[in-house]
Amino acid sequence: MAGKSKATRSAPLSAPYRVTDGSTFRLKEIDPGDTRGMKDKKKAQDALAAGIEELADLQEKLYAQNRWGVLLIFQAMDAAGKDSAIEHVMSGINPQGCQVFSFKAPSAEELDHDFLWRTSRCLPERGRLGIFNRSYYEEVLVVRVHPAFLDGQRLPTGLGGKGIWKRRFEDIAAFERYFARQGFVILKFFLHVSKDEQRERFLDRIEQPEKNWKFAMADVEERAHWDDYMAAYEDMIRHTAAEHAPWFVVPADNKWFTRLVVADAIRRALEKLDLTFPQVGGARKKELAAAREALLAET
Ligand code: ATP
Ligand code: MG
Repeated sequence: MAGKSKATRSAPLSAPYRVTDGSTFRLKEIDPGDTRGMKDKKKAQDALAAGIEELADLQEKLYAQNRWGVLLIFQAMDAAGKDSAIEHVMSGINPQGCQVFSFKAPSAEELDHDFLWRTSRCLPERGRLGIFNRSYYEEVLVVRVHPAFLDGQRLPTGLGGKGIWKRRFEDIAAFERYFARQGFVILKFFLHVSKDEQRERFLDRIEQPEKNWKFAMADVEERAHWDDYMAAYEDMIRHTAAEHAPWFVVPADNKWFTRLVVADAIRRALEKLDLTFPQVGGARKKELAAAREALLAET
């Protein structure tokens, strides 16, 4: 098709949720139930399919050009839809150009290192899309809400005390600035689900046998700390949103809308890059012509 598809022409769906300067950010300004007036799930599915197709084209160029790399970070409360957003948005992508890593409570070996160590080993290569399902941001979220995790990190006296969260924000921001300057695009998604919708999804996990495996008692217990988590998320976004590493605070009460926004954000970021297939020069063209001749002569 000549020109751009419908999905590209429409107004930037992800724009209202993109935070690049956190100084005035307030979490309460984003409604988890927001769908920007869209009601039609079917239309949304068509738009997602078109968006995914374009994403796949861009990824092919990213891979062929092999200069830029992309890091996508997903953070959220349980049952906000991280896994399904990753699954849907990446469904059209060539698996060879994509790497997904999940970060859970750290192992003993990981606790022997600085907090960026475990994620540093999993950073994407040039030409690839790397996905972090949770990330070093847990270090200013779950670790902040449950200070006992900090004790387990065995920081020397004087380094774990007052001001630690601000220092961690600075360290994360410094790392991301460095990584961006190395040619890596960083996009961070906070899937913002409401406490009521989370309750509904937990109930589903209990009531539907095929979803029982997803249910964890610990997840329900974390609801008691909901306000602390929201405060930690807000503070994190305020301190770590940047032009080169934006946060997208994505309404997550409607999974179809979440996926649409995430796909839109990734596509738009890739469109801004100078992604092209490598040009073939004169010498290479001659080589190709000679190879063609040789192959044709075989018959
Ligand atoms: P799912 O539940 O869908 O399988 P998940 O990402 O919630 O996915 P879990 O097996 O529940 O996976 O484990 C993740 C848990 O590990 C979360 O509660 C998270 O807060 C915790 N975690 C991640 N990083 C850290 C960290 N650095 N310190 C302590 N806990 C962490
Ligand atoms: Mg979990």
